[in-house]
Amino acid sequence: MLSNFQTPTTESPQYVGRFAPSPSGPLHLGSLVTALGSYLRAKSQQGKWLLRIDDLDPPREVPGASDDILFTLEQHGLLWDGEPLYQSQRTSHYQAGLEKLQSDNLTYACECTRKQIKLQGPYYSGSCCNKNLSESGLAIRFRNNFTVTSLLDQHLGKIKADPIATSEDFIVKRKDGYYAYHLAAVVDDIFQQVTEIVRGADLLQPTLCQLALYQALGATPPKFLHLPVISTAVGMKLSKQNHAQAIMANAAPQNLVHALHLLGLTPSDDIDKTKVTDILNWAVAHWSLAKVSKNPEIIID
Ligand code: GLU
Repeated sequence: MLSNFQTPTTESPQYVGRFAPSPSGPLHLGSLVTALGSYLRAKSQQGKWLLRIDDLDPPREVPGASDDILFTLEQHGLLWDGEPLYQSQRTSHYQAGLEKLQSDNLTYACECTRKQIKLQGPYYSGSCCNKNLSESGLAIRFRNNFTVTSLLDQHLGKIKADPIATSEDFIVKRKDGYYAYHLAAVVDDIFQQVTEIVRGADLLQPTLCQLALYQALGATPPKFLHLPVISTAVGMKLSKQNHAQAIMANAAPQNLVHALHLLGLTPSDDIDKTKVTDILNWAVAHWSLAKVSKNPEIIID
């Protein structure tokens, strides 16, 4: 099968970063820290900072959340370059990526239920890989023949992969017909020519899985930088799923100062800390990765 999937032929000379929230709820302090960290990393290198809305999972989408996220980012002065990319409008690109994998015999259909997989162990064992099942109505998995042993993180250094987790044949298209996050994220990051992905350390394992997809799609992976996630107790990261408190757009200056503090920066008393632009300008000039904690998690009260 011929595929329409295209990888960019020239590498972008400029730093291109991005923030990719899912519209499963409003932004909370943890997502603000990630947004701000990726923004500062890009802007301190005169780079571009792109916005992608990960709305490829309608069942998990909260109505109005996308617009609310855009509004909150704007109120915090975190202005993205260009137009936001909406994953819901990109299915033909995910299909092209899938067809590229299919043409290289890197997919197979899987009929296993979640319950069956759970009984076999934490990871999918590949039990359908030689069954040659017809894809219709079934999940499609990535035949993960790629060996990813480690990741050189720009902040955390060398991260060794758990070989069983990283070699799992993960789903690229769900049985309900939606494309899965790994495929969509990798296709979009290739498309937008992102040079470095800054995301929360909770996504370290997904990053390791995604490295195999870059290889399969014939693309050079970007650099990766994982920031600490913000938690209320060990293992309890702030998240939309556990109903973390939304940050208030009208408290933007205070929120920025708080988020900066969590990234190791205390804005000088010489600036007007009631103005988002003053805070952000100061932060761009003083951003230092060396000040950011290397702990994967920061616990707040
Ligand atoms: N939308 C996902 C999230 O908010 C993925 C982000 C990413 O790919 O960095 O966790």
